Amino acid sequence: MAEEKKVVIKRLESAKVLGKFMADYYYELDHASKTGEKKVAWCTSVGPAEILRAMGFLVYFPETHSAMLGSSRMATDLIPKANAIGYSPDICSYLTADIGAYLEKVSPLAKVFKGIEGPPKPDVLVFNTNQCRDVQDWFAFYAKEYNVPLVGVHSFVGVQDVSEAHVKSVAKQMEEMIPALEEVSGTKFDIDRLREAVALSRECSDLWKEVLDTAAAVPSPITFFDGTTLMGAAVVGRGTQKANDAYRILLKELQERIARKEGAIDNERFRLYWEGMPVWGRLSAHAKLFAGLDACVLASTYCNSWIFTALDPEDPFTSMARAYTELFIVRADAPKEKYIRDMVDFFKVDGIIYHDAKTCPNNSNCRYGMPQRLEKDTGVPYLTINGDLNDLRLISDEQTKTNVEAFIEQLEERK
Ligand code: SF4
Repeated sequence: MAEEKKVVIKRLESAKVLGKFMADYYYELDHASKTGEKKVAWCTSVGPAEILRAMGFLVYFPETHSAMLGSSRMATDLIPKANAIGYSPDICSYLTADIGAYLEKVSPLAKVFKGIEGPPKPDVLVFNTNQCRDVQDWFAFYAKEYNVPLVGVHSFVGVQDVSEAHVKSVAKQMEEMIPALEEVSGTKFDIDRLREAVALSRECSDLWKEVLDTAAAVPSPITFFDGTTLMGAAVVGRGTQKANDAYRILLKELQERIARKEGAIDNERFRLYWEGMPVWGRLSAHAKLFAGLDACVLASTYCNSWIFTALDPEDPFTSMARAYTELFIVRADAPKEKYIRDMVDFFKVDGIIYHDAKTCPNNSNCRYGMPQRLEKDTGVPYLTINGDLNDLRLISDEQTKTNVEAFIEQLEERK
């Protein structure tokens, strides 16, 4: 059994810049919601945010609120409130925690940001089912509650190769949203404004990729656990200059760490990849658990999900359709496995952790033999952790700790 040691989590200075970005973002939304000075659109995390920005909406992403409900450990008590009105405990615990918070009129935003009581009221809700069907049901609940329009893209799932037919269908659906959005915003759609938003979004994506790619350095200057909080600006701020400015500062700090050969954890001996959702209520505990075993969880599919290299301002609708369909979560197992094999090589990974999140089958890739196939292909061993993104009743901390320690011992023997 590995000996326990005291672990101090190293903070990045630029995390403060990203924190300020998030605070400004929520205050601007809150102001708009209270004054009506700007219209607010709610959007799914990999929905067509660029179109909404181009039409002058401020864009709010309920998934970030749900992640805060998880990380503040408010979610577990709120989920039963949504269960009581018919949303099963087996479906997305982002959805159930968020609806539970709405029903109870509570929000982690109120705890973190003085003067903000909760999420901004929507003028319109916009989804893309590229990630799952749950987002549509989630937004449909709020469309009824707030009596506002609901528009969306019905995407493909389990896509083997992204074809012209896929791209055309999604691009057309995005174009067809425009009249409804014009009506809500009172603004005429302007293709040049969309080009600008797509250009800024692409820049954000490129910067975020550069940030995450620094983890290929040995030792890695960043962990997956850092990434889960630093990615906020890539999720909510893509398409804005401010997000790009914040990432430039972060990137510089990471490059300085690399130049000094300073790792995100002391004594990096094992390099791990995280596949699946984070356990929001255990971010710090997991960061310490792995660091205490000299294991750096340094890269993940999850943080990489906000990299959209297909975005092209010259061809905004088609490139958005492609970018939002090429995503990992949309794809069949074969392209997913190729993706993970490339990640394992690029980041020089010793082992893969799969998080089997009970309420998110869409982001749990260990249920149909993928870990076994990848281990056979790459020789890189894996561990599956059973848990959940938000519902802490589905987590056994003792079991996780025992399994992770045993896995690191296994890696040690291979060294
Ligand atoms: S992908 Fe998973 S966590 Fe995200 S909204 Fe869908 S079910 Fe919930």
